[in-house]
Amino acid sequence: MRLVFLGAPGVGKGTQADKVAAQYRIRKVSTGDLLREAVRNKTPLGLEAKEHMDQGRLVPDSVVIGLVREKLADPSHANGFILDGFPRTVPQAEVLAKVLVERGLQLDRVINFKVSREEIVKRLSGRRSCPKCQATYHVEFAPSKNGTLCERCGEALIQRSDDKQEAIEMRLRVYEEQTAPLINFYEKQRLLSHLNGAEAVETVYHNLVKALAAPQTA
Ligand code: AMP
Repeated sequence: MRLVFLGAPGVGKGTQADKVAAQYRIRKVSTGDLLREAVRNKTPLGLEAKEHMDQGRLVPDSVVIGLVREKLADPSHANGFILDGFPRTVPQAEVLAKVLVERGLQLDRVINFKVSREEIVKRLSGRRSCPKCQATYHVEFAPSKNGTLCERCGEALIQRSDDKQEAIEMRLRVYEEQTAPLINFYEKQRLLSHLNGAEAVETVYHNLVKALAAPQTA
């Protein structure tokens, strides 16, 4: 199964991608996670990406495309994959289509997760992350049992710089301008299914599994 998860930041794509990856034994490829790892390791790519990410802007297409190309070439992705947070621009989607054709592969489905802007802002602004083990919490919806410390490893939780108010506004603007056009792009290819991402995690997952099992009708 080869899937793309589309949607604004904070719609829960990553959480759902983890669940699908475990259930279907396929790999999740999250460009956000790959970029954050490069930033943590202070690689040249990470240093270039950090400035864009902190401000809530997109990292240049060339950088992200290189990362994804490398991942898809890895044999561990032969079983299938979920692209989480990629593509985010039409040029990225065009390159992805080319890479898949080169490998004789096709996307099976693109899932568009929908959540209201108000809910997204609430989710992102309350998110707290562990800088050591990458666990995530929410001050209101999923607080750590250790208060301001990570439940798993005891590290002090932080707010990601791109989860601060100004960066959230920028990320949502960037989504509308550069990523939302992909809805039309994939609709035309009859690959798109829409999903309400505002419900409880388990409900969204239940509906997602149903959507993946259903024949494509869009
Ligand atoms: P995410 O965790 O998916 O919200 O990604 C965090 C940040 O990484 C984004 O705000 C962008 O700065 C960068 N990023 C992730 N994926 C992409 C992409 N496909 N294209 C450009 N920048 C990306």
